[in-house]
Amino acid sequence: MNTAPVLILLGPPGAGKGTQARKLEKQFGLVQLSTGDLLRAAVASGTPAGKAADAVMKSGAFVSDQIVINILRDRLGEADCASGVILDGFPRTAIQAEALDVLLTERGQKINAAISLEVDDAAMVERVAGRYTCGGCGEGFHDSFKIPTRAGVCDGCGSIDMKRRADDNAETVGGRLVAYHAQTAPLISYYEGKGALQRVDAMGAIDAISASLSSLVQGVTA
Ligand code: ADP
Repeated sequence: MNTAPVLILLGPPGAGKGTQARKLEKQFGLVQLSTGDLLRAAVASGTPAGKAADAVMKSGAFVSDQIVINILRDRLGEADCASGVILDGFPRTAIQAEALDVLLTERGQKINAAISLEVDDAAMVERVAGRYTCGGCGEGFHDSFKIPTRAGVCDGCGSIDMKRRADDNAETVGGRLVAYHAQTAPLISYYEGKGALQRVDAMGAIDAISASLSSLVQGVTA
C-alpha cells in the first residue's frame, strides 16, 4: 500500500482550485497537478497532444479524455509525485474518474478526499474574466480581488511578466460553466458514493477558505 496522499479539488472555473492547490502544495509538501497547466505546456511546446488541444481549449470545450488521461498518467509517474498530489482540474468527466481509479489501484494508492469548492456560478464570470498569473512564479492575481502591491509587479518574485489566458474572457466562461455542470458536477455524487466527498464553502476570502481547507486536509491525511 502506498500512503502518499491523493486529493482532488472539484469546482467550476473560477472556484479557486489553482489558488488553493498552490497553498496546500506548500503547506503539506504535495505536488499540484493541474491538467490545464499541463495542457498549456503541451500547447506551448507544440507536442502532438498540444496541437490537438489548442483550438479546443480556446473554445472552452474539454480536451479528449484520452489525451488528458495520458498526460496525467505520465506526470503522476514522475519522481516528485511520490510525496503525494493535489489534482486540480482532473478528473473532469466520468471516464476520467474511472481511469483515475484504475491508475491509483495500479499504484497502490487511494483518494484521501475529493473536495468540492462550493461557489455561486454568478460570481464566476467576474472571477475568471479578471484573473491573471505571474509568468515567473505562477502566483495568481485579479483585477478586483487580488491586486499586486505595485501595479504589474509580482508580489511573490518581482517579475513583470504577467499573463492572461486566452480562454479567460466573459464569452468562453459561460460555455465552460455549462460544460462543468453537464460533465464534471456529476462527479460530486460519484465521490459521495465512495465516501470520499468533502464540501467547502469557497465564496469567502482566499485566506478564510484556505484555513478551512488546511484543517480538512490535515484531518484526511493524518
Ligand atoms: P479552469 O478550471 O479555469 O477551466 P483549467 O486551467 O483547469 O481552467 O483548464 C483550462 C482548459 O483546459 C479547459 O477549459 C479544457 O479545455 C482543458 N482541460 C483542463 N483539464 C481538462 C480535463 N481534465 N479534461 C478535459 N479538458 C481539460
